[in-house]
Amino acid sequence: MLTFDNRFLRELPGDPLRHNVPRQVFGACWSPVDPTPVAAPTLLAYSPEVAAALDLDAAVMASPELLAVLAGNRLLPGMASYASCYGGHQFGQWAGQLGDGRAILLGEAISRQGQRHELQLKGAGPTPYARRADGRAVLRSSIREFLCSEAMHHLGVPTTRALSLVGTGETVVRDMFYDGHPVGEPGAVVCRVAPSFTRFGHFELPAARNDRPLLQRLVEFTMTRDFPDLALDPARDLAAWFTEVCERTAHLMAHWMRVGFVHGVMNTDNMSILGLTIDYGPYGWIDNFDPGWTPNTTDASSRRYCFARQPGIARWNLERLGDALALLMSRPDDLVAGLERYDEIYAADFCTAYAAKLGLSEWQHDDGELLEELFTLMHRAEIDMTEFFRSLARLDSDQPDPVLLHAAFYRADLRQHHAGQLERWLRRYAARLREDGQATAMRTARMNAANPRYVLRNYLAQQAIDHAEQGDTQMIHDLLDVLRHPYDEQVGRQTFAALRPDWARHRAGCSMLSCSS
Ligand code: AMP
Ligand code: MG
Repeated sequence: MLTFDNRFLRELPGDPLRHNVPRQVFGACWSPVDPTPVAAPTLLAYSPEVAAALDLDAAVMASPELLAVLAGNRLLPGMASYASCYGGHQFGQWAGQLGDGRAILLGEAISRQGQRHELQLKGAGPTPYARRADGRAVLRSSIREFLCSEAMHHLGVPTTRALSLVGTGETVVRDMFYDGHPVGEPGAVVCRVAPSFTRFGHFELPAARNDRPLLQRLVEFTMTRDFPDLALDPARDLAAWFTEVCERTAHLMAHWMRVGFVHGVMNTDNMSILGLTIDYGPYGWIDNFDPGWTPNTTDASSRRYCFARQPGIARWNLERLGDALALLMSRPDDLVAGLERYDEIYAADFCTAYAAKLGLSEWQHDDGELLEELFTLMHRAEIDMTEFFRSLARLDSDQPDPVLLHAAFYRADLRQHHAGQLERWLRRYAARLREDGQATAMRTARMNAANPRYVLRNYLAQQAIDHAEQGDTQMIHDLLDVLRHPYDEQVGRQTFAALRPDWARHRAGCSMLSCSS
């Protein structure tokens, strides 16, 4: 069914202990651990694209054998299960060893096309890195991870993928707002898929422990397995590799900032070495444009991980990765070039992305001011980001009509209050479009390819969760389907593009999310 080639296990040192008790693991990159079986698994949803990438057809996906694997109840021949060891900076502080506390790798599947895919079950039971936690995941957070991984992919944002969403038939107890009200919730397991789940924190931990040999081996391994196209020489090209990681991270940040995604927990253990979006927790999508918005209630007071700060935080995280790599370098200053490259690429990508969003054939110097003015207006007038940019494509540059954009406002009073400002901005923008001189049809097509109609709005995910918790998974399937073509107008699917309704403004799960998952 699947072919495995488990290089991470084969080429990196493992923990000699086999028993599954929480511990500090030294001198090893992984610990062997079996998933803990669950009582009554059901396949709630799967991604046909990810299944196809793994050569798993519909019949296999429907089979009890595969369900047992995706639930953590059995392993296939060639699989080997383990949890990986990493550390991380959490909210700006070094947190020591973290590791896969509830994620269990099943090995590296090699597709018929020769593609390598690490398979990982999230919520499959405790590992030696679980500390005092239960190793499980609740249905609500698993639905959010499953849907958003796939939505991001179809938006063109680098991300880990999700093969399957399995209900465990077991209850998981969570105190959602850490306020002394634990309740039993349905449990679930997501099978995530990526070429590599290696994080910045994998390198930080051996560095923090001054374990140079382990760090060296992990760096060499990652350079060869995860960056084969670069054909780097591990002995000489450390700085060049770091630059590549910086570039990928810069591309990722520009994507998040163009689609309005807020990760919510950009700790260094949640940063992928491949520049993928990883670890979907209390993430959120910008509804009304607010640079200071964070979906994460744990971050509500300091707003370290709010929308506008993400590119700066990614750079800070890269600096922490650089600190770790410096341990192996005779001239650590060589790493500065990577950070400079980060700044360059992010700035360039951001301009390219927003030129496309605004329908400009190229970004010019003054466009920064035009965009700043728009951001200020969108923030003050509480304008919906997704709806605004999408509607802008229909603007007639000879007769810019503000009414086209009325649907993007949440509040009539703010719309009236800012009507003059909106008109002024539209006049300036229309003049810029005329100067740019693209044919209207071309511009509209270009803008529609850059501005999604459908994103996984927080309240939509919450509605799918509410239904699923009552046993109805239809909305998960509907959302998965709509979000496969986020840039296309889809007939009969307007409700999935609707602005956040009033009831969702302050509801848990819709605008406020906790890390409890
Ligand atoms: P996160 O906030 O999801 O990035 O997780 C931070 C650390 O806590 C990682 O080491 C996770 O594996 C671990 N962790 C989070 N939730 C659980 C859980 N329910 N059981 C075991 N470990 C967990
Ligand atoms: Mg994490």
